[in-house]
Amino acid sequence: MSKSYLRFWGVRGSYTAPFQTHLGVGGNTSCVEVRVDDHILLCDAGTGIIPFGNEMMRQKQVRNLLIMLTHYHWDHICGLPYFIPAFIPDWQISIFGPGQSSKDIEEYVSAQMRAPYFPVGTETWLARINYLAPPPDHNFNHGPIAISYQNVHHPGTTYGYRIKARGKTILYISDNECLYLEKSINQQYAEMSDEEKELYDNLKQEEYESELNLFRGADILIHDAQYTPQDYQAKRGWGHSCYIDAVNLAIDAEVGELYLYHHDPNYDDKQLEKIHQHCEQIIRERRSTLICHLAREGTIIDLD
Ligand SMILES: [Zn+2]
Ligand SMILES: [Zn+2]
Repeated sequence: MSKSYLRFWGVRGSYTAPFQTHLGVGGNTSCVEVRVDDHILLCDAGTGIIPFGNEMMRQKQVRNLLIMLTHYHWDHICGLPYFIPAFIPDWQISIFGPGQSSKDIEEYVSAQMRAPYFPVGTETWLARINYLAPPPDHNFNHGPIAISYQNVHHPGTTYGYRIKARGKTILYISDNECLYLEKSINQQYAEMSDEEKELYDNLKQEEYESELNLFRGADILIHDAQYTPQDYQAKRGWGHSCYIDAVNLAIDAEVGELYLYHHDPNYDDKQLEKIHQHCEQIIRERRSTLICHLAREGTIIDLD
């Protein structure tokens, strides 16, 4: 296996989906590994981090890694209490996520392991845990991997990460509602005065430009594509995208490859294949060169 790669350990959003009908795509929640030689970073710590941790215990080469959390909703942190390397001395684990200080990050990570929710707290972690202070310019490095982050549209503070590894730009945006303003106000458009319409049109344009800028330059974009248009109608404002918006924006932003991610646990393999096929159809109709995949647990992308 190549020494520089990206691997999907968990691709579900919201909660695990260990159902027979879902396992072609995978049941674990958000966790993606980016590895360059012996430098490993993990995006999110959903249940996908558990098998990753178990695999780490079977090797001796790496004893140091970085975990970057997009936010602290359960589906992104609930693997941490079962992440074995954290309980083993001689491991060094850096943890980063939203917060004003490293203390904030420590508090958010520790809270889920307090009694009565879990039998042991983070004070039983024997690894050297280093909660990273937020860098003022939103940029930091993990070995040869360069990382930056910005806020995205999801309840609470949620980050999208831009990762430069082996000359490739990878965007990890697990939870983000594309075109939120446009979707929310569109329905009232007919009742607006001309002045309001003009103001709204400007806001809409601004939102579109800012989302394009978020996506631009991505060789690999891993993005929230949680809902079908029908489900999105009922769940507008929940902070997740309709897959059609995600694929259209990826086309507009000239992204190289899009991985549809954070799959709804209600969707089985067949439904996800249908979503993927529809995305392919949109790409053909728009004569785009975008390559679109369903993120699947276990998929490894070579970065060399
Ligand atoms: Zn989520
Ligand atoms: Zn969330």
